[in-house]
Amino acid sequence: MRYWVIIILFNFLLACETNKSPTKIAAEPIIALQPLGTFPESTAVALADSLQQALNCSIILLPARPLPKQAYYKQRQRYRADTLIKLAAIQSDTLSYRTVVYLTVKDVSHSNEQHHDFGIFGLGYQPGNGAVASTFRLRKHINSRLFKVVIHEIGHNAGLPHCTTSNCYMRDAHGKMIQDSLVAFCNACKRKLVHLRK
Ligand SMILES: [Zn+2]
Ligand SMILES: [Zn+2]
Repeated sequence: MRYWVIIILFNFLLACETNKSPTKIAAEPIIALQPLGTFPESTAVALADSLQQALNCSIILLPARPLPKQAYYKQRQRYRADTLIKLAAIQSDTLSYRTVVYLTVKDVSHSNEQHHDFGIFGLGYQPGNGAVASTFRLRKHINSRLFKVVIHEIGHNAGLPHCTTSNCYMRDAHGKMIQDSLVAFCNACKRKLVHLRK
């Protein structure tokens, strides 16, 4: 998941900072959540609330759209995450948003060093303006775990790489259920965010 990383974080954080000012247009959306397929509305609403509190940014929750069929990987019966992001961005007309997180209940996968098709929680460009998060592998505590997955991918979009601090949002899950142990961006990641803004 070490992908397209660097400039968007700057834009993203700059936008967040700008958005704190009451003299700016507070309603301008910074992060868009785009549910795909049958993603539960209540889960999406809870996620929007959690992100708003954590990031102090405007969050817009878009009406659900169909999953991009062309991203479906028939042999493994799941969706290729990178293709899903690219196609969903075109089909849902979300290209104008700084960060768009596509949400699905379906399993998503990606190629890594060891596996051609590895099931994942989410994927985010590093840097970039697109990410996908799936609830398929979360099993329980869905709202809390999904929030951790999404804020991790938003961190990638902003330019942050993976982090080895055990409780940092940017820790690499390596396919394991680590979300319950993550509590915040660590100080090193916070400093990187500040550095990337300069
Ligand atoms: Zn990651
Ligand atoms: Zn960190």
